[in-house]
Amino acid sequence: MLYTSTRNKNVQISAAEAITKGISEDGGLFVPMEIPQVDAAFIASLQEKDYIERAVAVLGLFLKDFSEDELRAYARGAYGGGKFSGSSPAPVVAANDRLNILELWHGPTCAFKDMALQILPYLLTGSAKKIHNDKKIIILVATSGDTGKAALEGFCDVAGTGILVFYPVDGVSPMQKLQMTTQKGDNVGVCAINGNFDDAQNGVKAIFTAPAVKARLAENGYAFSSANSINWGRLVPQIVYYFSAYADMVNQGKLAFGEKMNVVVPTGNFGNILAAYYAKRMGLPVNKLICASNANNVLTDFIETGVYDRNRKFYTTISPSMDILISSNLERLLFMLSGGNDEEIRSLYRQLAETGTYRVSDAIAKAVKADFAAGYCDDAATRATIGRIFAQDGYLCDTHTAVAVTVYESYLAKTGDTTPAVIASTASPYKFSASVLDAVSGGEIHSADEFSMVHELEEKTGVPAPEQLRSLKGKTPRFTDVCKKEDMCKQVYAMLGIQ
Ligand SMILES: *Cc1c(COP(=O)(O)O)cnc(C)c1O
Repeated sequence: MLYTSTRNKNVQISAAEAITKGISEDGGLFVPMEIPQVDAAFIASLQEKDYIERAVAVLGLFLKDFSEDELRAYARGAYGGGKFSGSSPAPVVAANDRLNILELWHGPTCAFKDMALQILPYLLTGSAKKIHNDKKIIILVATSGDTGKAALEGFCDVAGTGILVFYPVDGVSPMQKLQMTTQKGDNVGVCAINGNFDDAQNGVKAIFTAPAVKARLAENGYAFSSANSINWGRLVPQIVYYFSAYADMVNQGKLAFGEKMNVVVPTGNFGNILAAYYAKRMGLPVNKLICASNANNVLTDFIETGVYDRNRKFYTTISPSMDILISSNLERLLFMLSGGNDEEIRSLYRQLAETGTYRVSDAIAKAVKADFAAGYCDDAATRATIGRIFAQDGYLCDTHTAVAVTVYESYLAKTGDTTPAVIASTASPYKFSASVLDAVSGGEIHSADEFSMVHELEEKTGVPAPEQLRSLKGKTPRFTDVCKKEDMCKQVYAMLGIQ
C-alpha cells in the first residue's frame, strides 16, 4: 500500500517513508492511496481479541511494509507491560444507559494522546531502519501542555532517539509544567521559553527548516523528526480504538452484530474524529460522526455551511486542548471527499493561507453532511454537564469529554436519532482538576493550588485519582532552564552536546 500527498498526487511512497518524513515537502499531508476494506468476519474476529491483538490486526491493514511480528512487538511495547492501568487501554464504560464512554486516558499522562504517542516511537524507529536512515532521531516539540508530556513519556529511553520539548514559560498549567519538568529518562530535555505558544511553535519550525541546522546535525549523526498530530504514525493507531469500541459494544450487548453505532468526539485538530471516519470508510458499521467543539466553533460552522473561516475571535476555555482555529487534519478528509483531487486541495489551502477562509464545493459540503453532524457548547454548559452527570450517575468526566456529552445530548434531543452511541473521552478528570472541582462543588473550592485540588476532588467524589498525578505534589523539578525565544537553536545544540 502506497501513500500520497494531499497536495501532490505524483508523490507515491511507502508507509515507512511517510512516517519518517512526517509532512510532505509540498506542505500536504500523507494519506493512503486506497482505503483497506474489512468484512464481517474481520470485525467478528476482533471480539475475541485483546487490545494488543486488535491493534496488530487493524494496523496491519495499513502498514504493509511491517511484518505481523514487528507490529505485535510494537503493540506489546506500547500497550502492554503495565503502561496503561486497568483491564484494557481503551475500555468502554457505561455512565448510564445512553452514555457509553470510550475512556482513552488510562495511559502514562492521563490523556488520549498516549494512545498514539506510546506506539509512535516504535513506528518511527522501525520506519527509519527500513529506509536505512542510521542517524539518531531527534524529536523537537513545541507544546501548550498535553502533547509535550505525552511525547516525553513515549520517547523516554527509546534507543536511537532523543526528545527536546519547549513550552511557553507562563503558558501551561502548574500541573502540566511539573509533569514535564520532572520527566525521567537519559534522552530527554525540557526547556521553557520567554514567549507564548506561537513563539515556541515558530521557533521549532524555524529550527526544523533551516538547512544550516540540518547540516550541522547530520555531521554529528542526528536527524530531526516530528511527533505532531499530522504524522500518519499518530493517526493510524487511533483507528484501532474505534474498532475495539465496536467489538466491546457487541460483547457488552449494547449493539447487535452488524448494527450501526454513532461516534461522538471532542475535537480540536480533527485527528481523533478523522480516525473514526477512516474506520467507517473501511467498513466498520458507523452511522453519524458527531463533531463536538467548545466556543471555538470553527468546525461546527464548517460542517453546517461548507465555509471554513478562521477569522474569528479566539476563546480561552476550560477545555484548552480544543482551543484551536486551524484543524490541520481536516485537509485529509477534504482530499478523500474530493475524490483525491490534489489541485482542488492546493487551491483551498492557498485561499486559507491568503485570506483565512475557504468554501468547499457543493459536492464536498454535501458529502461532509452525509457523514458528520456537529455542535458546540460554552464553558457554563460544560460545567453544568460535569455536575449533572456526576450527581445523577456518579460518573466523573473531564471538561473535554463534557463538551462531547453536552453536544451529544442536544443532538439526541434535536434529531431523535437513538442509534447506540460511543463517546470518546479524551482526558482523566484529574488532569483538569480545578475546572472539574469547580463544576462538582458549585464553585466552592478550599484548596490553594492545583495539586491540593487533586486531593480535594478525590475526597469530594470518591473517584480515585491516577497515581502519576497524585504523586506530583511536592516533587522537585529536574529541568529548570528558561531561554529567550531567539536562543532556542543554541539550546538545542547545548542539549545535544554540539559545540
Ligand atoms: C488533543 C486533545 C483533544 C483534541 O483532539 P484532536 O485529535 O486534536 O481533535 C481533545 N481532548 C484532549 C484532552 C486532548 O488532549
